[in-house]
Order: sequence, then structure tokens, then C-alpha cells
Amino acid sequence: MATLVTLVSLLLLGFQAQVRSEWTYSEGQLDEEHWALHYPACGGTRQSPINLQRRKVHFNPALTPLELMGYEEGQAGQFPMTNNGHTVQITLPESMRLAGPEGTEHVAVQMHFHWGGDSFEVSGSEHTVDGVRRVMEIHVVHYNSKYESYDIAKDAPDGLAVLAAFVEMEEDAENTYYSSFISHLANIKYPGQSTMISGLPVLDMLPENHFEYYTYHGSLTTPPCTENVRWFVLQDSVKLSRAQVWKIENSLLTHDNKTLHNGYRSVQPLHDRVVEASFQFSRSLHSEIGSYLEGIQMSIRDLARALEQRREKRRV
Ligand SMILES: [Zn+2]
Repeated sequence: MATLVTLVSLLLLGFQAQVRSEWTYSEGQLDEEHWALHYPACGGTRQSPINLQRRKVHFNPALTPLELMGYEEGQAGQFPMTNNGHTVQITLPESMRLAGPEGTEHVAVQMHFHWGGDSFEVSGSEHTVDGVRRVMEIHVVHYNSKYESYDIAKDAPDGLAVLAAFVEMEEDAENTYYSSFISHLANIKYPGQSTMISGLPVLDMLPENHFEYYTYHGSLTTPPCTENVRWFVLQDSVKLSRAQVWKIENSLLTHDNKTLHNGYRSVQPLHDRVVEASFQFSRSLHSEIGSYLEGIQMSIRDLARALEQRREKRRV
């Protein structure tokens, strides 16, 4: 009897995993265009990610620096690291906390990454800045400490906070804070695989500048797309070498046994929301031209990606 119960629960677990993994970004029945059919919130009006349009961002001088508490303790301890079929996710200890500008404390749960890599250097951040997609994006997910656990907070209207940071490429400059994390990716090639990473310099894996950030109210960027996330997107970015980015982009497989590429959601309409920034954007002609050129580059890449997808569909 006990065996039967075990067998049934194993089957149920397998079934749940199957249902959970059904959604995809661009392939199959439940691609991001269709998420809202199964997860109604994904069709809501406060969705993430968004394009951060600097011209329209409101400067709010009351936005004090973000406080990352206990993040440096991440150096010691063991961290489970999993390939969940959509990204690599690292479980974080509750001792890591983020205090927002209003003093609200948020407890860290996990961090994960979004990247591109589908074809010739496609970028894969979720948020874009003035229409420009960055190379990668880091998300550190937290829940509001006024709730007892993540499970309770995940459904509460003010339940979650995500600290986001962009990754940029700096050719040959290896970022040694990422070395251990990247070398562990080989242990979790297949979805469902986990490994332990001992010692993780989370604080050093993020940009040093915690006082310049964008903030707005949005959602989870994956199903169920719950609209209860206070976003804090750091203005500054982390630098990784080309080889490091390549490793992250090409180490993991999806449930379909394909290389896990382009794990990011398209930007969502802002509707009546206002994005605030803790800093004033200084507009020099130089940066203006730079972002204009980057914008063009990005459009070309997106176009190439769309063509590639169409070609693939035709092949199928
Ligand atoms: Zn994310």
C-alpha cells in the first residue's frame, strides 16, 4: 500500500512538473502570446518587463539608496542551483534582505538570469532602456517581510520585490566573481538537475551602485504573471567577458533538449503606470547618439530573430 501511495505521489509530482513546464517563450502551444489563456494575469495591465523610456521617467528625490543586507554573507554557505528548464535558479538564504526606499524590508528567495544567444549575439535582457535590449538581466526575487513566507506573499497585493540588474559584455575582462557559478553550469545541463555551489559572492555579482535605480509596479515576467511585484532596476550594470556570456548562453538545455536560448519575455505596455528614478538622467549628445545607434542595432537583431523563427517554423 505504501508503495502504491509513493508511486501515485511520484506520478502526481511528475504530472505537476509537466504542467508547470508547459509554457515556453516562443515554441509550442503555450508560447508567450498564449500565456493569458492559462494564466489570466499575463493579460493584465500592470505587466513586466517594460521599456524604461528615460525621457518619460519621473525623478523622485525621495528615493533613497537601496539597502542590501546580509548579501555579503552569501560568500559562505551552500547554495542549491537548479536548471528549471527556463533558466538557472539559485536558492538564497532568508538572511539576505533588501530594504526599499520606504523602509519596507524584503526577504530574498532566489536569483536567476535571463539571456539571449539564439543567433549571432542576440541580447536577452527583459527590461529595455530607450528600446535597447542589454546582453543579460539578473533577477533577485524577494518577498515582503510582513508575510510569514514566500508562499503566502506570492499571492498578496504587496507581496514581492525584484531587484534587477543588467549584464554588459566587456570582451576579455573575466569577472572572477562569476567564475564558480559559471563552472557549475556544466553540472545542471538537463532540466530538473541541481547542484550545490559553496560560497556565492552575491553582493559582488551585482553592480556596486545601489543608489541609482528605476522603480515601478509590475508583475512576475513568467506565468502566473502575478501583478504584485515592486521592481527595482539598477541603472548600473555588471560586466562579464564574451567567453563568460557565451558559457551562460550555451550550457543548459530545455525540456525539448534544445539549448536554452532567448529566455526573456517581450516588453509589455506601460498603460497608466509611471516609472520613477532615484537619479536624474543627464543627456549628453554623445550618449544620445550612442543609444540611437544601439537602438538601430537592436532592431536589426530583433528582425533577424523574427526571420530565423519564421524560417524554423517553415522547416517544421
Ligand atoms: Zn526573471
